[in-house]
Amino acid sequence: MEDLLRSWDGEHVVVRYDQAAKAWIFIAIHSTRLGNASGGTRMKIYEAPRDGLQDALRLAEGMTYKWAGVDFPMGGGKAVIALSAPLADVERDRLLERYGELVETLGGTFSTGADLGVGPELVQVIGRETTHVFGVRGAGDPGPWTALGVFSAIEAVAEELYGSRDLKGRTVLVQGIGDVGIPLCKRLAGTGARLKIADVNEERAAAVAEELGAQAVDVGKTYAEPCDIFAPCAVGGVLNVDTIPQLRCRAVAGSANNQLERIEDADRLHERRILYAPDFIANAGGAVALCGLEALRMSEDYVAAKVLSITDTLKTIFAEAKAREESPYHAAMRWARKVLERGPA
Ligand code: NAD
Repeated sequence: MEDLLRSWDGEHVVVRYDQAAKAWIFIAIHSTRLGNASGGTRMKIYEAPRDGLQDALRLAEGMTYKWAGVDFPMGGGKAVIALSAPLADVERDRLLERYGELVETLGGTFSTGADLGVGPELVQVIGRETTHVFGVRGAGDPGPWTALGVFSAIEAVAEELYGSRDLKGRTVLVQGIGDVGIPLCKRLAGTGARLKIADVNEERAAAVAEELGAQAVDVGKTYAEPCDIFAPCAVGGVLNVDTIPQLRCRAVAGSANNQLERIEDADRLHERRILYAPDFIANAGGAVALCGLEALRMSEDYVAAKVLSITDTLKTIFAEAKAREESPYHAAMRWARKVLERGPA
């Protein structure tokens, strides 16, 4: 763990070993340059505590860039509760309450919400002991907000590729018909875009296809399916050395976190002249909405405008990437670093 901490460029990490649950708690605060740190809490079984710490450090850094990428006044943080064995519900809830007490001692420097293993109902349990939680005070499901942001990203892509945001007649393939995929498909269907959908849950895909007049495609052939824009909204790592050569699209813009298996995959897409809307910008809508509405008490109109501004941010990024003949991923990272250097707007 010492090596991980030495090589990390973040601000600080709170470490607690919870004796009763035999679980490690890591709260990583990567940057408070733009505001108090905020990021979800992940809870799962790790083979070694080090793996949990590594996840916390990596994910907290990712949050710094997510907030900076959309120029939002929050800092990057993330918490990991590394379990050594499954817990009964009662023990799990007691652990989350103790974790909530720990978050409370940080006085708002870190606020948290749902992530893998911690659904909205468990955020409520954490919220018994701290007010520094989001997703419990009426902002509702972040999925539709994330979908709005992805839709804005798709519009930016369309403008870059075709000179117009109009999606009528363009084919969009949405992978993953869940909390984000469904509202995204509904928005797309409203524009007259041709919709293709792929989900491992074939029943769900068939039902949504019927409802929206979409075409459900064979999940095994998703990457080779012809389309104009591919929207990965299921799992991470889908853009890699195996899938990129198969793609038959002109652009990728979706909600999944960590779509690139490796950074080099951004260059692979660029070499194939496939425009990439960096995920940490395209999928920031849900985080912006939850923190904006609940922690920063912004109005719904302001939050909506902020999410829709993803289109303009991406247009700037695409223009810079074009001028430098590079992947938009690199331009987006530079843009986020510039925002961090500048500090809060
Ligand atoms: P979800 O669990 O509600 O839906 C995911 C869907 O993808 C499910 O229907 C599942 O059956 C399907 N799926 C899983 N693996 C698949 C595969 N290999 N091929 C095709 N379909 C597959 O999740 P969600 O909340 O809609 O989130 C989708 C993605 O977006 C995730 O990567 C998530 O981390 C990311 N994300 C979500 C939000 C949000 O607000 N919910 C915000 C930011 C990022």
